[in-house]
Amino acid sequence: MLTIRQKPTLSVLKFVQIRSGRKPDGVCLVVGSCARGFKDNSTSDVIYSSSSVKKVGDSEVQLFWEAFPAGSGPLDRTTYMFTYIDPQAGSPKLEELLEHCTTILADSTGVTLDNLEIQRVIYGIFPTYRDSPLPAAFNRILQFGDASGIQSPVSFGGFGSLTRHLGRLSTGVYEAVRGDFVDSYSLSLLNPYMPNLSASWLFQRAMSAKQQSDVSPDFINELLYVNFQCMQKLSDPVLRPFLQDVIKFGPLAKTLGLVMLNKPQIIPSIFKQVGIPVLVDWSGHFFMLGYYTLLSTFADPVIRSSFEKCDSSLVGLVWIFWRFHSFQAEIQNNSGSRNDNCRLVSATLVK
Ligand SMILES: Cc1cc2nc3c(=O)[nH]c(=O)nc-3n(C[C@H](O)[C@H](O)[C@H](O)COP(=O)(O)OP(=O)(O)OC[C@H]3O[C@@H](n4cnc5c(N)ncnc54)[C@H](O)[C@@H]3O)c2cc1C
Repeated sequence: MLTIRQKPTLSVLKFVQIRSGRKPDGVCLVVGSCARGFKDNSTSDVIYSSSSVKKVGDSEVQLFWEAFPAGSGPLDRTTYMFTYIDPQAGSPKLEELLEHCTTILADSTGVTLDNLEIQRVIYGIFPTYRDSPLPAAFNRILQFGDASGIQSPVSFGGFGSLTRHLGRLSTGVYEAVRGDFVDSYSLSLLNPYMPNLSASWLFQRAMSAKQQSDVSPDFINELLYVNFQCMQKLSDPVLRPFLQDVIKFGPLAKTLGLVMLNKPQIIPSIFKQVGIPVLVDWSGHFFMLGYYTLLSTFADPVIRSSFEKCDSSLVGLVWIFWRFHSFQAEIQNNSGSRNDNCRLVSATLVK
């Protein structure tokens, strides 16, 4: 959370309730540990699934794993087990998941708890809201980091996400403070609609086990398998952005196209798993992602060079620029382009 020129008019309590205690649209539950004692500790798993949908507590869940060597010692390994759920009564408890995690860990690695020295136990509940990022609700207060809801609903890599947006945000905050555009509307332009983020929500829904499901318990694994197989065929330009948590229109369109050609029989199950309303909503975000990419590729260079030629002393232009700059940064972040030149453009204007 970043507070611009603090005024003691709003309590933090009021601020943290921007969503007014609304139930999240999705939740990712994570449990795991950092433990010493793994002799075979030279590989990492970004996302690994070793079973189909199974029951934990009263709930059906699809479990995923992530594991990598930890920096604290050659035998130290961090292991997470996570699952995406639709939050409701009866959802699994973290204790139940942790219990499950230790059993499966022993089964799959052959390392029992007795042979491990637990350094740290990890657990977390990551809520997701479909209407993210969260626009500023109050004058002079800007949500920042996880509080702004810019993290992916699939990876929850909020730190990585924050670093990707840091250049845009620091320039934007500088301009907002300098131009005194610190009302909630202006600050909201720094947390704009992001079609790539909204489009990612479908992936979370596709990876959450339904409680009364009419799809096979292997569906999620099959979907992941065919997607990764297609991305691998399409090679690095497609696979790399996805693994780096960057959703781009071109790679996404190519992957979906290839999945449809390679495994068309999976499409009816996708409809059943995520539901028609979610798919219709997603199509809108996918279209917008394409539109933003088009603007970023063709309109951005023209508008940018026009602004660079403008007389920077014209005060009236500052507002237009602020609006343009937010939109432009928004387009670039959403289309996956880099925005290295934003700082250059803003520096020219505020001289
Ligand atoms: C198990 C796990 C694994 C993760 N792995 C990754 C990863 O691999 N890659 C990645 O990019 N991200 C990862 N993340 C996410 C990453 O940790 C977060 O996105 C990042 O820490 C967000 O930083 P932040 O500063 O926005 O929020 P936080 O780190 O949550 O900081 C918010 C701070 O505000 C404090 N606070 C809260 N309320 C108040 C209050 N009322 N008054 C004062 N202080 C308050 C909190 O105590 C906290 O210190 C992981 C998270 C978890 C839990």
